[in-house]
Amino acid sequence: MKTTSRVVVIGGGVVGASVLYHLTKLGWSDVMLVERSELTSGSTWHAAGGFHTLNGDTNMAALQGYTINLYKELEEITSMSCGLHHVGGLTLADNQDRFDMLLAERAKHRYMGLETEVFGPEQIKEFAPIINTDGIIGALYDPLDGHLDPSGTTHAYAKAARLGGADIVTHTKVIETNQRPDGTWDVVTDKGTIHTEHVVNAGGLWAREVGAMAGVYLPLHPMEHQYIVTDEIAEIYERGTEHPHVMDPSGESYLRQEGRGLCIGFYEQPCRPWAVDGTPWDFGHELLPDDFDKIEDSIAFAYKRFPVLETAGVKSVIHGPFTFAPDGNPLVGPIPGLRGYWSACGVMAGFSQGGGVGLMLAQWMVDGECERDTSAMDVARYGRWITPGYTLPKVIENYQTRFSVSYPNEELPAARPLRTTPMYDAFDNMGAVWGQQYGLEVVNYFAEGDEPRFETPSFRRSNAFDATAREVAAVRNAVGINEVQNFGKYDVQGPGARAWLDRLMAGRIPAPGRLSLTPMLSPQGRIIGDFTVSCLSETHFQITGSYGAQAYHMRWFMSHEPDGEVTLDNVSDRRTGFQIAGPRARDLLQAVTREDVSDMRFMDVRQLTIGLSTAIVQRVSYTGDLGYEIYVDAMEQRALWQVLWEAGQEFGIRPFGMRAMMSLRLDKFFGSWGREFSPDYTPAETGLDRFISWKKDTDFIGRAAAEAERSAPPERVSVAFEIEAEDADVNAYEPVWIDGKVQGFCTSGGYSHHLGKSIALALVPRALVSPDMKAEVEVLGNMCKATLLPEPLFDQSGARMRG
Ligand SMILES: Cc1cc2nc3c(=O)[nH]c(=O)nc-3n(C[C@H](O)[C@H](O)[C@H](O)COP(=O)(O)OP(=O)(O)OC[C@H]3O[C@@H](n4cnc5c(N)ncnc54)[C@H](O)[C@@H]3O)c2cc1C
Repeated sequence: MKTTSRVVVIGGGVVGASVLYHLTKLGWSDVMLVERSELTSGSTWHAAGGFHTLNGDTNMAALQGYTINLYKELEEITSMSCGLHHVGGLTLADNQDRFDMLLAERAKHRYMGLETEVFGPEQIKEFAPIINTDGIIGALYDPLDGHLDPSGTTHAYAKAARLGGADIVTHTKVIETNQRPDGTWDVVTDKGTIHTEHVVNAGGLWAREVGAMAGVYLPLHPMEHQYIVTDEIAEIYERGTEHPHVMDPSGESYLRQEGRGLCIGFYEQPCRPWAVDGTPWDFGHELLPDDFDKIEDSIAFAYKRFPVLETAGVKSVIHGPFTFAPDGNPLVGPIPGLRGYWSACGVMAGFSQGGGVGLMLAQWMVDGECERDTSAMDVARYGRWITPGYTLPKVIENYQTRFSVSYPNEELPAARPLRTTPMYDAFDNMGAVWGQQYGLEVVNYFAEGDEPRFETPSFRRSNAFDATAREVAAVRNAVGINEVQNFGKYDVQGPGARAWLDRLMAGRIPAPGRLSLTPMLSPQGRIIGDFTVSCLSETHFQITGSYGAQAYHMRWFMSHEPDGEVTLDNVSDRRTGFQIAGPRARDLLQAVTREDVSDMRFMDVRQLTIGLSTAIVQRVSYTGDLGYEIYVDAMEQRALWQVLWEAGQEFGIRPFGMRAMMSLRLDKFFGSWGREFSPDYTPAETGLDRFISWKKDTDFIGRAAAEAERSAPPERVSVAFEIEAEDADVNAYEPVWIDGKVQGFCTSGGYSHHLGKSIALALVPRALVSPDMKAEVEVLGNMCKATLLPEPLFDQSGARMRG
């Protein structure tokens, strides 16, 4: 066995093998994989081998498409068979909400180039005659759906990796991973030690145990899962062609042909987590005992949907464990704060996602960044607050909702409330309807009177509509108040603070007493952050960004480590307060401080005494209105509330939540993190280039790429449309049709309650943008007229915001 290697991948399941192959594909050949038994000895060997592209997250769906298309390449490279069956598949809908979801997916697929189609009941019957179509509204047909041989595929990845120079060592168990003071690693196995720069944890069922060897907690948990293979069925083997896949979300089942019979698996409600206290090391090639009790109801449902099953005998039952993260997406990328340690775990659909996971991780390791936004699977989407106590109920919830309709406004209930601010009970008493962001309870809106304390999940306008309209009106006509808790906040101090920020941020770092808005770019010029930088003194700054991106941003900050001249502190949960916004905001601020704020200009920042507290007050507002953000020590938030709330009565103060905030920002076409601003886009595409400081002489990260983009503007550009919508607004990724073709897509949208209009922000080809462009946006299958809005309809002169 080699004793040194640039990379050691721990685990020879489909995911570890894919990572290894992709590293070689990108040019790293000094790489090895260590497997404690044979390849495939975890979840991989007993998988049903099904694959499909359907995924609520568009980037995940694209990576699933990549994975499926990769198998042919693997077969060509290795001359091995992956046992591919590209039979196509249907996802059924037997209620309007589910059909809406499929229509929304179909729409997204258009600009992604995926050839899915919506089938009606007759087409379904023709395509898959064993389905009882009673009650079925329609189905989404995906020609890419199919299945393969899990073992053959894993071995094909392994052979392709070997051909690229990789080493694979089996029957060798990793027992320790120890980091040396220089950041490199000793991977200790029962056959000797390997010194390496990079450790990849692809331990699958044992990923928790492998992580613990390095002191890392990975939020994943194994769940038991069962599928049944039937005896021969005449209706199947007498068909001239192989039967397609069928996903029946109402029955929580997936079905496909297996030999001359069928194979059907279930995501049953009475599901069971497995190995709660840790995966036994002696588990591997055995299955769990059959358990028909927990799938009894699912089987009864399946008999109705697929009547041929009722008389079919059972040939075999496969019951085994596999792992899930709390949201069901993989956990991929560098572990924050641990140099050279990478996660490739929590992959619950290894044969749909394994290729994409391998590609993204390999790009991250070799190139330093990925070609697309990986936030949906980034291990840094969870913070330090994550615990096994949180993970377990969330994983159970995820398993149970695997086939549920997933709504854009949905808030899932498990493991909540977890993190709350001092305002939680006060807001709760005021009627708060809660959402959750990065473990934190945030107010979506306030219900009044008899209004339910629950937002109806929907693809169309929900029951939050009236409450949101009230809150928007309060901001635009008087003054609204909203917590600033859900910003990520960082305190940067020291003689080197300005220089450090200047290098990290593409924008201008402001003078004392001033703020600036700035994108943060990757070396390839992609947007990896949009921040407000507040200069409290020449050596002291506060930066604010997305709350949910804290671990992601801290990982980046720490990898460009502030030296001894700079201290960086993530104060997101220790510094909090409120924003006040609306035409009476200045009056309110003046009423709670003895200092004169009449001369406080837009983008000023000051330390003021507000009531009993010393506060950082900055004049800026994401609502696009006159507004101030007021930050205090979290221990003083209730005192600050008391002062603002009492003084605000005179000015018509009303609390507002995130639904109102997202409506208000549309009046000004303000982009938001994860929607308009993400690593999928560049500054010139999204308009953030106007915040880049071309004048500063610092070689900020991403400068060369941004300069190149400046001299050759990108082909697509962000625009705003007014949409002739009925009862459903744009959410994200709806296709934009121009001249009868899909030429762009929406990044976000919604209803502007102030303007009384449905608004969409979209990326379209720059060359096609003109005042009389004819565009339509497809919303839930309806073609809606889209009229270009060259400039915001609210406060065009900026008098309200800046005045
Ligand atoms: C019943 C069932 C049906 C399924 N059907 C499908 C399906 O149809 N489609 C689909 O896409 N997915 C399916 N899956 C899920 C699929 O099996 C997993 O997504 C996939 O196998 C995960 O692969 P992995 O490489 O991450 O983990 P694993 O397969 O668990 O591999 C981890 C490997 O790491 C090794 N290892 C662990 N610790 C060490 C150590 N200390 N030293 C050395 N080696 C170590 C293990 O021996 C193991 O080989 C199914 C799962 C089950 C249980």
